Amino acid sequence: MRIDLHTHSTASDGTDTPAELVRKAAAAGLDVVALTDHDTTRGHAEARAALPAGLTLVTGAELSCRIDGVGVHMLAYLFDPEEPELLAERELVRDDRVPRARAMVRRLNELGVPVTWEQVARIAGDGSVGRPHVASALVELGVVPTVGDAFTQEWLADGGRAAVEKHETDPFEAIRLVKGAGGVTVFAHPAAAKRGRTVPESLIADLAAAGLDGIEVDHMDHDEPTRAHLRGLASELGLLVTGSSDYHGSRKTCRLGEYTTDPEVYGEITRRSFGAFPVPGAGGV
Ligand code: AMP
Ligand code: ZN
Ligand code: FE
Ligand code: FE
Repeated sequence: MRIDLHTHSTASDGTDTPAELVRKAAAAGLDVVALTDHDTTRGHAEARAALPAGLTLVTGAELSCRIDGVGVHMLAYLFDPEEPELLAERELVRDDRVPRARAMVRRLNELGVPVTWEQVARIAGDGSVGRPHVASALVELGVVPTVGDAFTQEWLADGGRAAVEKHETDPFEAIRLVKGAGGVTVFAHPAAAKRGRTVPESLIADLAAAGLDGIEVDHMDHDEPTRAHLRGLASELGLLVTGSSDYHGSRKTCRLGEYTTDPEVYGEITRRSFGAFPVPGAGGV
């Protein structure tokens, strides 16, 4: 069984539509794929409708969180998408992305970059707008060669000249909300140092005590020693360990299924959830 528990579509900052994403997931030989767009579940219906036979869809989202000034991402799986408290928080974060992206455009204009909100809005389409869309605009304008090159202090990295913060949820609150909606939480790329500051291990221990289910270990932003270390930490804290591609289509270099999750861990995630169930593609597995 090949299981990839972290992907993005055009519902946020990926470049494949949800339908394209599930087709590519099946073509890549995956048995299970989770759709985890930033702060939104709006891609789920389309992914579900297009689900190829033999592929199972795990509904999810990647929730933008912040604690002690450090941005962290919380993967949430199999929660009830209509549970009102979690839904309200997701909407708050997602809606704040618009004025924040407009503010980043203004900053860039002040820095002499002729980017416009219309351009960023066109690139984002109806997906939750984020820095990768602004980064794509910078690529279009020839300011940087690739999206990744926009994530520096010069431009859009955390604390960068044109970066603006958005409303983000306290991760303890996120765990509480996701559990209340019957879902399971996995701390995404917890030691991805190249993205900016990371949280201390004592915080991961505190989150584990507050009900965090797992940590994402096999991820392109963790080197081998970091992964080995995180595996040890997970075992100490009784946390599940996942691996996933964090696929963003052409906006990032990782391939679908580049990293995968152990079937036993996937089984445990499905056992712990009660807000939603994995959706088997027509024909089933
Ligand atoms: P936002 O949610 O708008 O703050 O944007 C965060 C997204 O930007 C992440 O989910 C990544 O997809 C992307 N990102 C963050 N850091 C980097 C980086 N160093 N290189 C490329 N993409 C990045
Ligand atoms: Zn993203
Ligand atoms: Fe992330
Ligand atoms: Fe992601």
